Amino acid sequence: MKEKIKKSDEQWRAELDPEVYRVTRERGTELAFTGRYWASKESGTYLCAACGEELFKSGDKYDSGSGWPSFSAPAGHAAIEEKLDKSHGMIRTEVACGRCDSHLGHVFSDGPPETGLRYCINSAALDFQERE
Ligand code: FE
Repeated sequence: MKEKIKKSDEQWRAELDPEVYRVTRERGTELAFTGRYWASKESGTYLCAACGEELFKSGDKYDSGSGWPSFSAPAGHAAIEEKLDKSHGMIRTEVACGRCDSHLGHVFSDGPPETGLRYCINSAALDFQERE
């Protein structure tokens, strides 16, 4: 099992950019079509913006038309955690970083054929590492 990262709210707040903090630690959502990565097509790996864990690969990224970075699968099963989210009067599956528990976005079942899944992720929760 992967070693978890646990930090106090004060530590996270001091370390992260305000928008990254708001999304990852306060379970916020960025506005559609405003994030850094929704239209990105470069080859590489998407890392957790809070802890650097590898979360998604560019090969699984596709254009869902939603305005958020969308992936058909995570980089690995240990990379993410899924939990039931009943907030805002909806029943959704929240996606969080498996290592530091940062909020990333949600997963929906209207994805492309291979998996049928759409991981709808906030750009603010991600950092991109280009393939060398
Ligand atoms: Fe993380």
